[in-house]
Formats: sequence, C-alpha cells, structure tokens
Amino acid sequence: MPTQEQKIAKRRRDADTVRRFRYRRKARAIELLGGKCAHCSKTSGLMFCAKDVFGPRNRLSQFWTTNEEIFLQEIEKTILLCDACFWERQMTSGRRKRWKHGTMYGYYAKECRCDLCVEANKKRNAKRYRPTRAGSSTG
Ligand SMILES: [Zn+2]
Ligand SMILES: [Zn+2]
Repeated sequence: MPTQEQKIAKRRRDADTVRRFRYRRKARAIELLGGKCAHCSKTSGLMFCAKDVFGPRNRLSQFWTTNEEIFLQEIEKTILLCDACFWERQMTSGRRKRWKHGTMYGYYAKECRCDLCVEANKKRNAKRYRPTRAGSSTG
C-alpha cells in the first residue's frame, strides 16, 4: 500500500505530465493554425475559436488531452482569432444582439472606452497576466 505521501507525490507527477502534454498540444495547435489571427494576422492575444460560428461548439477544453485523431479533427474546425477579431465576429455573427457596457464585448467589438468597459478589460488582463514574483530574475 502506498503511503499518503506517495499518493500525493504521484498525483502531483500525473498533474505535471498532463500539464506538459497540454502545453505541447497547445503549442502545436497554434503552429498548425498558422500562429496568428486568421483575420488580421496579429500574433498576440490569440484564442482558439470554432470556425463555424453557428456550428456546434468545438470541444476545445477536451482537445488538449484527447487522442491524436480527434485532436486533428478538432483542429480542422478551429481558427485562431485575436481578442478584437473574436469580438468583432461575435458582433457580426448576430449571436449577440444587445450588449452591455462593462464587458469585453463592449471594449473590443464596440471599441467603447467608457469607464465600465475599460474596467472590464483591466480585470480581464489582470486575470490573464498574473504578475510574476519580482526580484528573482534567474529564469
Ligand atoms: Zn485579429
Ligand atoms: Zn462602454
């Protein structure tokens, strides 16, 4: 019988393996999809989006851990879009008719820079780019 500590250590190792695997998959997916926004060729703020706005949502969350075949199938249905183009597409697709201030939709699609929308963007960026610990610059 493994001890509790061994169990925890194993779980941690497994999680690590999955994380690395996902990371590689993600890097490969970006490469396969051209590494830039499909609309404006921007290379930052990219996200994976379903090619067909009205089609079924693709299983992006699973696709990092799925087998090679399904991964490639999903890639076929996926495009890379930057923030701005993603929201632009959401707007023009008619999926969202009404919008509210204080949303990413307002900020990017409507290019609204009112306090609410700016705040929403700030919050999101804060979430996305967690500040790294200052001081040690060995990495
Ligand atoms: Zn773009
Ligand atoms: Zn606004």
